[in-house]
Amino acid sequence: MKVAILGAGIIGTTTAWRLAEAGHEVTVIDSAPEVAQGASYANAGMIAPGHAYPWASPEALRTLGQSLLGRGGRLRITAPVDRELLRWGTLFVRECSPARARRNALVKLRLCEYSASLLHRWSEAAGIEYAAQRAGGLYLYRTTAGLRAAYAHSELFRAAGRNQVMLDAVQLRKHEPLLDSPPGREYVGAIFDPEDSSGDCAWFAAQVKALAEVHGAEFMLGRTVVSLIGRNRRVTAVRLGDRDLEADVFVLALGAGSARVARSIGERVAIYPVKGYVATFPLRSGAPTPSVAAVDQDELIAWSIRGDRLRMATGAEFAGRSTALSPGAVEPLLDLGRRLFPDLADYGRGEFRVGMRPMTPDSVPVIGRARRHENLILNTGHGHMGWTMACGSAELVCDLLAARRTALPLASFAPRWR
Ligand SMILES: Cc1cc2nc3c(=O)[nH]c(=O)nc-3n(C[C@H](O)[C@H](O)[C@H](O)COP(=O)(O)OP(=O)(O)OC[C@H]3O[C@@H](n4cnc5c(N)ncnc54)[C@H](O)[C@@H]3O)c2cc1C
Repeated sequence: MKVAILGAGIIGTTTAWRLAEAGHEVTVIDSAPEVAQGASYANAGMIAPGHAYPWASPEALRTLGQSLLGRGGRLRITAPVDRELLRWGTLFVRECSPARARRNALVKLRLCEYSASLLHRWSEAAGIEYAAQRAGGLYLYRTTAGLRAAYAHSELFRAAGRNQVMLDAVQLRKHEPLLDSPPGREYVGAIFDPEDSSGDCAWFAAQVKALAEVHGAEFMLGRTVVSLIGRNRRVTAVRLGDRDLEADVFVLALGAGSARVARSIGERVAIYPVKGYVATFPLRSGAPTPSVAAVDQDELIAWSIRGDRLRMATGAEFAGRSTALSPGAVEPLLDLGRRLFPDLADYGRGEFRVGMRPMTPDSVPVIGRARRHENLILNTGHGHMGWTMACGSAELVCDLLAARRTALPLASFAPRWR
């Protein structure tokens, strides 16, 4: 089949590779000059099923209220509350009940676990290097009450088979000796998930692109998707400004750009771009490096080592379509890096980028056939965990097109919200 994949982030490129390998004639379109230049470049790099909790939860309601009052810390609403944000926010609030939060967490956990196992299997089989760090994930707390609450919360994932443990301050420093410094001792402990890992998402995507090309995939980069064109419940072509490209099947994987293009043909996906910030610092030669990817749960800052660089990420800003680097946004990353690991990196030579998370109200991606157009497949809305979920999502799409039984029920990811 002739398949047009819209979007060359981690979701689009991974899907392109699987479909090209399965024998489809694949064309990938993206406005950026290279693959994985959007959120798939600007992320913390964690492959973290153990952290698959959705953002919508009973506690999130309180954080949201504080943000609306301008006291949201790392979660900020800076865009005017227009119809799009209001609709998304209303749907988000609906997902905050304990029952919905629990259901969404388990759906995400299964996809994350499936995806991480494929990522590890495929990268070993195809020899894909991605600066993998496979020593687990640490979720750090500064208060005993916070740590205990997190451990109680993790019961959901432990009951679902996740082998998570609570570390006290002494055990934590054994796992991560670099935290045995006065600032590191601020952490009273951590939740440790030994199966979480980290790696360079954009590097992985670049290699997957090359593998897809070996199977004949064509990448049309630097080309903007203007709209979709349809007739009789089918998409017939994608409009690229100067020309229309026809195909048998269209896969929508435009990340935060998906909702606008879907709307051009009357399909609705509730995806709001949530801005985050990343910093990459070159490591100083010979400096001991953190061995485990980690998240400071109070500061909401994540970090991982990728080869000879330290990557840090933070921020959740509802800023509309603005991709500007807000003044002061990366200061918390510099502050924490300098305090925790003063000798690790050259903080004066940081590279700073913005990423737009394609967030759905329930933090569960949308994977499956569009409601009104049977040959339009959605693979989008991976929010804050698209690197973790990419391989599994690609395989679900591949199985869907092959009319094979999928490893996870597609009903859990089907287009929802009218
Ligand atoms: C700060 C931050 C930290 C994160 N940390 C993690 C993490 O630790 N672990 C994890 O699993 N996930 C993490 N994520 C989430 C993850 O990065 C995203 O979920 C994932 O990258 C989404 O991939 P995507 O391919 O859907 O989107 P993108 O990578 O954004 O790709 C979408 C592509 O579509 C293109 N595009 C959009 N509109 C158009 C158009 N009209 N025409 C042509 N091209 C278009 C863009 O150029 C882009 O290349 C993080 C995200 C952020 C922002």
